[in-house]
Amino acid sequence: MSPNLEIICPACGAEALLRREARYEGLKKVGETLRCSACGHEFPGEACVPFKDRATPRIFGEEDKLPKVDLFANDEKGRNCRHCRHYVVNPFTQRCGLHFREVQATDSCVEFEPRQRTDA
Ligand SMILES: [Zn+2]
Repeated sequence: MSPNLEIICPACGAEALLRREARYEGLKKVGETLRCSACGHEFPGEACVPFKDRATPRIFGEEDKLPKVDLFANDEKGRNCRHCRHYVVNPFTQRCGLHFREVQATDSCVEFEPRQRTDA
């Protein structure tokens, strides 16, 4: 038995066999009728037959192909206070420990010094 006769029938959902029935016009064979061996569902043509070994395998790992986005990559290009070692945050204000003044996280500073990453 040829393995490519195995189908997964869309009508009954069974793994079945393709049944080929010769079609005659009078005594002349004019073609074949393709049917599901389980339920008798007729396929309009060879191209419509859902052969089992033609089933498309699921594609895994699509997510892995997406480039990893480093959320810090762009920020580090700037010299923003939030990445400066002199930047001090407390619940009430953000301060520059070098100039002893209030700053914003997005401020930039000529005396910017990159903070050492402590979060390993
Ligand atoms: Zn069927």
